[in-house]
Amino acid sequence: MLTYIKVIGGGLAGSEAAWQIAQRGIKVKLWEMRPYKMTSAHQSNLLAELVCSNSLRAHSLTNAVGLLKEEMRLLDSLIMLCADRTRIPAGGALAVDRTAFAELVTEKLLQHPLIEVIREEAVTVSDNEITVVATGPLTSDGLAREIAEITSKRYLYFYDAAAPIIYGETIDKTQAFWASRYQKGSADYLNCPLNMDEYEQFYQALTTAEIYPVKDFEKERCFEGCMPIEVMAQRGFQTLLFGPLKPVGLLDEKNEKKVVAVVQLRRDNAAGTLFNLVGFQTNLKWGEQKRVLRMIPGLEKAEFARYGRMHRNTFINSPQVLRPTTQLQKYPLILIAGQLSGVEGYVESTASGLLSGINASRLYHGLAPVVPPRHSALGSLLHYITETQADNFQPMNITFGLLPPLKDKIKDKKRKNSLLAERALEAVKAWKGQI
Ligand SMILES: Cc1cc2nc3c(=O)[nH]c(=O)nc-3n(C[C@H](O)[C@H](O)[C@H](O)COP(=O)(O)OP(=O)(O)OC[C@H]3O[C@@H](n4cnc5c(N)ncnc54)[C@H](O)[C@@H]3O)c2cc1C
Repeated sequence: MLTYIKVIGGGLAGSEAAWQIAQRGIKVKLWEMRPYKMTSAHQSNLLAELVCSNSLRAHSLTNAVGLLKEEMRLLDSLIMLCADRTRIPAGGALAVDRTAFAELVTEKLLQHPLIEVIREEAVTVSDNEITVVATGPLTSDGLAREIAEITSKRYLYFYDAAAPIIYGETIDKTQAFWASRYQKGSADYLNCPLNMDEYEQFYQALTTAEIYPVKDFEKERCFEGCMPIEVMAQRGFQTLLFGPLKPVGLLDEKNEKKVVAVVQLRRDNAAGTLFNLVGFQTNLKWGEQKRVLRMIPGLEKAEFARYGRMHRNTFINSPQVLRPTTQLQKYPLILIAGQLSGVEGYVESTASGLLSGINASRLYHGLAPVVPPRHSALGSLLHYITETQADNFQPMNITFGLLPPLKDKIKDKKRKNSLLAERALEAVKAWKGQI
């Protein structure tokens, strides 16, 4: 057995994983290909570079990402320590001085006596060495080929095309009805019907809404198989009516006459607290998604757990290949962390890196890897990416909808989130004591 653990990728997840391992007294070799080989988004040679926004999103515990950050603080996260030290004023968000943040992470890792940073592209992964692979959404082509080999090609994707996800409790069930097309199987879809007036207004809004500009390296995807709903709509007034909004097989004869379109929503988690808009992958700006989709009858008060998006993103189909410990099912010495594992966002990537670091260390010491408590944000995120439906898996941000609901129904959202956060932090404290 090697006398060190290998971490590939010195981004947010890899930096956190390396730190967690080294802090447990184990030598780490951290492979980072920059500056010799750059990605299409990174600009520097710094570890943990933030590629776009300088915000780690909401700070408050009544926001799920605020909770996830607090859990990481409890678990001695390097990224959280550096973020808190380089924080700049940004209202309710935890924003950082981008350069100062990445410089501080880099300095901490370079100065750690047990960490060696190797500036090279890794192109192979051995299944008999403990290795954390955290090469992110822009994993180099050489390594992506290797990961495709290890996970089976079918389970590695290069783009995400995600439809928005809506909280089930915000859908008006007096307007939406349960049915499956042609009554095949059980009535698993919630259907929102539109009459001609409603469809015309929706169509008009959809085809004139503002979209995010598509980057060159993202273009090919948008015009391949998985087309954004707004691009499809541009092809003509009828296109959606014969595509994702087709009403056939969903209504009885009486209603068929009035209804020209049906928007379908499918459960996104087993608890049925989240619903995915079928076929609605989109590049509309987030504010526009809210405005346009709330024009659909039944969704007037919809709250979004995740907005739709389309961008370059390398990730594995975790429900098929990953354990909630971040180990590959087939090769348990290989752990996959960060965006590559199907979580979405800086904070979520870091959190999965933190867990990979803990579990890689446990494997090194001959201990069984651990799964974080289901009631925690970290546990719920891992539960989602490894247990959700595999057939249309898309990377996910943390939201309170992923946590198991409270026993009592509480209407006040802030109070409900506070109680969920309290329960989660208690669970993480107890778990930390056990591990
Ligand atoms: C263009 C873009 C913008 C984004 N903007 C945001 C945002 O604003 N907010 C947000 O929350 N999330 C954003 N994300 C999503 C995601 O949270 C970030 O990409 C995040 O940095 C992912 O963390 P990571 O550690 O998984 O990967 P990264 O931080 O990308 O780290 C991966 C590291 O691995 C290195 N690497 C790759 N291949 C190899 C190899 N073969 N050998 C050695 N090193 C290798 C890379 O150089 C990189 O340093 C964005 C993603 C993209 C692509």
